[in-house]
Amino acid sequence: MSEWICKWCGDEAVFITGKGWVHKSTGKMYATKTMRHERCPECGSKNIKEIKPKWGICFDCHANFHIEYEIDDHCILPIPKDKGGDEQ
Ligand SMILES: [Zn+2]
Ligand SMILES: [Zn+2]
Repeated sequence: MSEWICKWCGDEAVFITGKGWVHKSTGKMYATKTMRHERCPECGSKNIKEIKPKWGICFDCHANFHIEYEIDDHCILPIPKDKGGDEQ
């Protein structure tokens, strides 16, 4: 029995009946990645500062926001693990 991994991130891929392929570590089809705001999400100003870990403020509109946010990175693409990266 061969194991399956996601081609993009190498996480283990598991097939859930009724759901399809998901990442084993998250249980989700889509993987997310953590990004950091470089601009204020409220007004778009670059005049922001991380005042405490993961927490930012904007000096222009005084918004408080989480400096990190998650975006959908990729949809899982299962490939057999034992194939070991020999791609065409
Ligand atoms: Zn993945
Ligand atoms: Zn702002």
